[in-house]
Amino acid sequence: MATFAPMMARRRATKVVTLVPGDGIGPEVMSAALAVIAATGVEVEWDRQLAGAAALKRYGTPVPDALLKSMRHTGVALKGPLETRVGEGYRSINVHLRKTFDLYANIRPVLSFHGVQTPFRDVDLVVVRENTEDLYAGIEYEVTPGVVESIKVITERASRRIARFAFEYARREKRKLVTAIHKANIMKLSDGLFLRCARKVAAKYPGIRYEEQIVDAACMRLVTKPAAFDVLLLENLYGDIVSDLCAGLVGGLGVVPGANYGEKGAIFEAVHGTAPDIAGKNVANPIAAILSGAMLLEYLGHGHPAQRIRAAVGSVLRSGRVLTHDLGGKATTQEMTDSVLRAVGRSGRAGKGASAGTP
Ligand code: ATP
Repeated sequence: MATFAPMMARRRATKVVTLVPGDGIGPEVMSAALAVIAATGVEVEWDRQLAGAAALKRYGTPVPDALLKSMRHTGVALKGPLETRVGEGYRSINVHLRKTFDLYANIRPVLSFHGVQTPFRDVDLVVVRENTEDLYAGIEYEVTPGVVESIKVITERASRRIARFAFEYARREKRKLVTAIHKANIMKLSDGLFLRCARKVAAKYPGIRYEEQIVDAACMRLVTKPAAFDVLLLENLYGDIVSDLCAGLVGGLGVVPGANYGEKGAIFEAVHGTAPDIAGKNVANPIAAILSGAMLLEYLGHGHPAQRIRAAVGSVLRSGRVLTHDLGGKATTQEMTDSVLRAVGRSGRAGKGASAGTP
């Protein structure tokens, strides 16, 4: 139970949440998420903080002390995407925050929505990605001009705790299968250690099936038979890539939420990045951010409102009338948000007098 305890512990009345609007489409989709959370009636006190390009412009640093202080105080954040310049400038702020707060488990539930046209139906899987090491440890150097090395770090401690997290998650969510994804045939030491740890942990969960797949074969299988997967357990780099692949199975980055959990806190954020090509145009899909907000509410102990948000999103997508451009429609961010708000409102009225309420 140890790895899952922090999620349960948060079911206290922690209501102050650090809010990072983010860069690019961040402010647009985050204000949609806030409006939908407010519509459920759950009161959250938002401590707004800047990070990323917005903070760099205002304070001269992408990770201001005020943000770190706020997160240390609240232990939980809802965060928009942050700009990280590719191959130069400051290192990824997302990686920095995950490492600073030791948010070792990245979770991405990937679910098909009726109404979103994709070649796949009934995808229902969860990507559990190790968040703190692997090639993302950031150990890179130039050996000699023209030759650079990046070090892949895999430890027993991190591998065991992410495996435990995956199995505890599977147990709690009544999922039947955990598939560890690896390349241990080539990286015998590093991925070999990861697999050995996963096997040891799997042995303690006889009620949950355990399988292993090589990452390239797993990618092929994901796009031919996604129903063969349930909970995916991956190191950091494979997890990053496979997460986006899985998002593609259900309609793209605009519909997949995400969370990063640690022993002492959590950050909730959509899978997508800043999408500078569509920023400020009122065309971004707000669903991923809205669903990340639902995951936040669940973490805070508001399971019923979280479920209302998910149901509202499901009904809007199912009707297929109000869809943003990425889903083949013409609706704006605001129109889609308004549709979800109306659906949340309807579910509130329908639930009155019934067993509605916050657990
Ligand atoms: P970053 O550098 O921050 O990762 P990016 O544009 O390279 O940004 P993403 O933002 O993750 O990467 O997304 C890639 C493309 O997918 C975007 O350029 C955009 O066209 C599309 N996209 C991503 N998120 C959304 C969204 N919420 N709604 C609509 N389209 C999106």
